[in-house]
Amino acid sequence: MEVHPPSERKTVPTQSEVSRLNDATFSESEFPEFEPGPMLPGLDIEVRNPDIPRGRMRFALFDFDGTISLIRAGWQDVMIPMLVEKLTALNTGEPEEQLHALVEGFVVTLTGKQTIYQMMRLAEEIRKRGGQPEDPVAYKREYLDRLWQRIESRVESLRNGSLDPEQVRVPGSLELVRELAARGVTLYLASGTDIEFVRSEAELAGVAEYFEPHIYGALDNYESFSKKMVIDQILAQNDLHGPELVAFGDGYVEILNVKQAGGIGVGAATEEYTREGINSWKRNRLVQAGADIIVPEFRQWRQLVAYLMAEEPYGGEQHAV
Ligand SMILES: [Mg+2]
Repeated sequence: MEVHPPSERKTVPTQSEVSRLNDATFSESEFPEFEPGPMLPGLDIEVRNPDIPRGRMRFALFDFDGTISLIRAGWQDVMIPMLVEKLTALNTGEPEEQLHALVEGFVVTLTGKQTIYQMMRLAEEIRKRGGQPEDPVAYKREYLDRLWQRIESRVESLRNGSLDPEQVRVPGSLELVRELAARGVTLYLASGTDIEFVRSEAELAGVAEYFEPHIYGALDNYESFSKKMVIDQILAQNDLHGPELVAFGDGYVEILNVKQAGGIGVGAATEEYTREGINSWKRNRLVQAGADIIVPEFRQWRQLVAYLMAEEPYGGEQHAV
């Protein structure tokens, strides 16, 4: 990752912040608020890093949940209370708000990695408090059961055609994916959700065909998949150099990983319920992870592609915003 000179306004995280992010040791209170960066004129596209080498994209890696699909929207509202419940049951006397902040902190920091990591962290927190944790796999199963109760009707409605897939997509994501595919960009989908769900939900959301055969998700043997592995594989197999790879994601694992590989990171600070506007909480974390560009969703996909491809009116590497 390039080291940028210190500037008055904090635009990129320091190396030590990045390595701490990687360790997932951030607590909620440590997240700084980042001031808005320059916007492309008249658009909702925030350019955090105008120095990225544009016009070289050949491969694109997409996160799935929250970046393309909203089928699992609200999963945090299932996971966080469940994990807080497990810790509260230990009766350590810690105030519930404190446990909530702790859980929220690690759930968020581990978002984008596989679900099992959040459950492993829960087990660790239970052990720290003198409790006897269950197998993290059991916690994961319980979480998926609870989540399923919430999303089952959504999935059923998509299957029987009574729900328009556009309603469960991040706006503009299908158009963006289609445009990149038409331009010959090779597309990869990588999600921390179990692979069988990623496949079926990518079908339901109408995007699977653009990513085949490059659809990756969590495996039972969790050590044999990570977004970093997918990125390393893309770079190695195609003899790529950083800026030929662009990652699109709403979580900071994918942004952090692509930045560490020298690629370009487009952060989507999507508001999952309203499907529009910036979720400032996500935005801060994406900026922290080193996102070069921040968008609220992909409604302005045409301009975003033109900017990434260094086309008019954004031609030339030196184009100033
Ligand atoms: Mg996501």
